[in-house]
Amino acid sequence: MFDYVVPHGRQVVYTALTAIFLEALVEIILSETLGFCVGVRQVVDLAHECLKKASQKNIPAYSIGWFIHNQRVVKQLSELGLRHIEQPEDAPAGVALVRAHGITDELRNRFIQAGFELIDGTCRNVEYSQKIIRDVNKDDHIVIAGIAGHSEVTALSGVQDNDGVVIPSFVVQNTQDVNNLPHIGGRWVLMTQTTLPASEYKNILQAMKQKFGDSMIIGNHLCAGALRRNKALIDLCGQVEAVIVVGGKNSANTTALVHLVEDNGLPAFHVESAEEVTEQMRCYSIVGLTAGTSTPQSDIDEVYKALKGEML
Ligand code: SF4
Repeated sequence: MFDYVVPHGRQVVYTALTAIFLEALVEIILSETLGFCVGVRQVVDLAHECLKKASQKNIPAYSIGWFIHNQRVVKQLSELGLRHIEQPEDAPAGVALVRAHGITDELRNRFIQAGFELIDGTCRNVEYSQKIIRDVNKDDHIVIAGIAGHSEVTALSGVQDNDGVVIPSFVVQNTQDVNNLPHIGGRWVLMTQTTLPASEYKNILQAMKQKFGDSMIIGNHLCAGALRRNKALIDLCGQVEAVIVVGGKNSANTTALVHLVEDNGLPAFHVESAEEVTEQMRCYSIVGLTAGTSTPQSDIDEVYKALKGEML
């Protein structure tokens, strides 16, 4: 952790003088919002609880799938004993953590039936989205705006009704997919992956309105925390020459931050750790620093230090 200088409500950091250079090199401005979101903080805390509970009972501890999209955090927890499995058949029963993006009802039930004790790390925003789908009228049609195969979209596509039947849904990734939706009667409920880039959601929402008019209603919304993070990044782009984005290469929300920087006309550098910081990133006079929702503070601190030249 560093002592950041915080003038006028924004975080500004100047490099220290090194033994070699007598003048400050690169100015770094931190985004006002960066690092763990509420949902990720919760699931990481629960991962530790899962390990504790399993140890007390002398049974194995698991995470169902990647509990967050950050390899370093997953590796740290795995070194403590949290084993990654996908299916209940993969290992003997134990305590299993449900990831922040949630899982399908069918998978949840199979884990319970196989004797696993579940610790539910599903983010409350995703839990809310699943509840909306569960509560829709039988004749409604669910449309999920999101990336096909993303774990949150999978969790929303796998919600069951009270009879244990999967509630059907259409996944749309773009406006073309909306145009391809069938012309059938009834009400259309638009759900969204909570971390979808705002511009993509806006386009899909517009296309849905055009196609279905008053027959369409909005089910859930983009994550307010993710929107705040994006707004902070746009503000940051107005103050710097380039932006370093810290986070997992497999993290959709981190990649969306990279695209947001590029859309704002600035060079973006996506790094997972301090080892990936290069001299090129340090040749600007002023750079911004932001991080995805699953990036721990320690990674941000290390990248910051590397940008200062302290780790090169
Ligand atoms: S980004 Fe938002 S929806 Fe996703 S885990 Fe974090 S708080 Fe939950």
